[in-house]
Amino acid sequence: MHNDISEILVSEQEIQEICQRLGKEVTKDYQDKSPILVGLLKGCVPFMADISRHIDLKFDMAYMSVSSYHGGIASSGDVKIKLDLDISIKGRDVIIVEDIVDTANTIVTIIELFKHRGASSVKMVTLLDKPEGRVRPYQPDYVGKVIPKAFVVGYGLDYNEYYRNLPYVGVLKPEVYST
Ligand code: 5GP
Repeated sequence: MHNDISEILVSEQEIQEICQRLGKEVTKDYQDKSPILVGLLKGCVPFMADISRHIDLKFDMAYMSVSSYHGGIASSGDVKIKLDLDISIKGRDVIIVEDIVDTANTIVTIIELFKHRGASSVKMVTLLDKPEGRVRPYQPDYVGKVIPKAFVVGYGLDYNEYYRNLPYVGVLKPEVYST
């Protein structure tokens, strides 16, 4: 598995420092509020687990599964809800937890949906941001690290469902997906 990675972009230690920093920022911004953290499956799982332990507030957690990749390495632009929330977000302060923002098709679509459903506020925290990939203008509220336009895996991010268990984020060698 490690041999398929050409370069480590975010180390285990850096990920933990990011979670601590972002958790503190969210804690400060949401004092006296009880937000709901909505994780976008499956990529958010390690990040949600780690950042949530640095958010010192009363909050609840929910999950949603959306897909725009359908197995490849480029966004199809067609966002599908595969699993919806099991609670109402009407009147709630929502913080979406994402692994990465690339074209922003996914996040812009979900934010519109949540506003339509009556959320009081919708912000998002992402571990990684690839601004060079934008198709729609969007600036995430909380960003762990800005990375160049490369296809990355690890720490929740997959290629055909593999590599999610890597403890770091790395660039997948192009020969892995071109063969
Ligand atoms: P967007 O809609 O912003 O293009 O992409 C959001 C979703 O695409 C992410 O939640 C993630 O699932 C997937 N994605 C975007 N870039 C990458 C990448 O470099 N590697 C992997 N594994 N998934 C990505």
